Amino acid sequence: SGARVRRAKNRRLPQYLERGVDVKFTDVAGLGKIRLELEEIVKFFTHGDMYRRRGVKIPGGILLCGPPGVGKTLLAKAVAGEAGVNFFSISASQFVEIYVGVGASRVRALYQEARDNAPSVVFIDELDAVGRARGLIKGSGGQERDATLNQLLVCLDGFEGKGEVITIASTNRPDILDTALVRPGRFDRKIHIPKPGLIGRVEILKVHARKKPMAPDVDYLAVATMTDGMVGAELANIIEVAAINMMRDERTEITTDDLLQAAQIEERGMLDKRERSPEIWKQVAINEAAMAIVAVNFPDLRNIEFVTISPRAGRDLGYVRLKMDHIKFKEGMLSRQSLLDHITVQLAPRAADELWYGEDQLSTIWAETADNARSAARTLVLGGLSEKYFGLNSFWTEDRIDDIDSEALRILEVCYERAKTILGRNRELLDAVVDRLVEKKSLTKQEFFNLVELHGSVQTMPPTI
Ligand code: ADP
Repeated sequence: SGARVRRAKNRRLPQYLERGVDVKFTDVAGLGKIRLELEEIVKFFTHGDMYRRRGVKIPGGILLCGPPGVGKTLLAKAVAGEAGVNFFSISASQFVEIYVGVGASRVRALYQEARDNAPSVVFIDELDAVGRARGLIKGSGGQERDATLNQLLVCLDGFEGKGEVITIASTNRPDILDTALVRPGRFDRKIHIPKPGLIGRVEILKVHARKKPMAPDVDYLAVATMTDGMVGAELANIIEVAAINMMRDERTEITTDDLLQAAQIEERGMLDKRERSPEIWKQVAINEAAMAIVAVNFPDLRNIEFVTISPRAGRDLGYVRLKMDHIKFKEGMLSRQSLLDHITVQLAPRAADELWYGEDQLSTIWAETADNARSAARTLVLGGLSEKYFGLNSFWTEDRIDDIDSEALRILEVCYERAKTILGRNRELLDAVVDRLVEKKSLTKQEFFNLVELHGSVQTMPPTI
């Protein structure tokens, strides 16, 4: 009946409300003087009457400008958290719908909820997605965006100066926003959030270290020095990766070394997004060429589809596409021999690095594949497939963990020697593939096997364990 419908409607939960937002300014580090500006926004909520009495206008909208990951969202939450008001959020890309009117009605619903639950902060992420200057929008999406933008302007004006709903928006492109948005009374306050400097990075690392078991002598300055150019999101990630490293080694404290290693991994991810130096292109080429060359020696793995050093969407350095039976691999149904071959291929980058640069100048570019090798070796032992512990899994217990690790280590050593032997025999091929990769960035299957034919000395390796 109608009554029931109405009741259900009234009890509808707010859709854009984020519950339990409990962020405080102390959770956001490295802000310096920006913090004062944000504290003022909190005062608009807590001391609104005072402002109004003295005739000081409260802005309807604040624009946080800066690159991704510097903490804009976190700051908006901290403002709500410090003021003790509700936090409503939406990403502007959600406004932009194919159907005309959907975006506008979402804006209306968002502000309706914010008003019903005032005082509140409305946070709009990526404002430029909808607030792009009208002349810049081409094609059929334009009309929809106009409607959404107009609705947003109406809502902003509706709250102007009242101080019960304050909109905070984030953007990396304040320069392309429609001028109507930045007119007085709308987003007339801009706060720039830059990337953190050295001390800022130390502070951010420390904030994220608060809830982790850090070793007492961790050298945060060393880590901050190594992470020039990184933003808060990346630094937070370094702490997480370091913690995983600690867990994997079954230790109880995160050390400086864990952090430095994690920083290297993060740095490599960043390199993918940037221009690489010729040195790095070469290192990546050695990495990938080595895997491909070792793989052709094994019957199960020699079906290489292509070799590339172009960074892909993910965080990979490059990519050797081996046509292995991934389903089988995931389900742990590989034969013992294929597992050993797989480990050998994963250790090839490390072996090539040693061959090329010498033991003193090893990089850590192979850290990820070495990790794959490590876990495959453990799988092999735990699965009872190693010679020493054949069938061990049936009576495996926790206290055998040292035995398992030392057997896994033995396997890694044997496979590592195998990788080195293969690469040593194929030095000429390695040089040729690396040169070609640096020059062309990718090799097709045909191109790769032509080089193998020309320079390689390939023979199928017999099992050695
Ligand atoms: P943005 O909105 O600028 O893209 P976010 O606020 O979403 O960045 O940041 C993502 C995460 O990175 C945060 O949740 C937080 O864990 C971390 N972070 C970013 N900047 C900082 C900072 N200044 N202090 C502490 N942590 C930060």
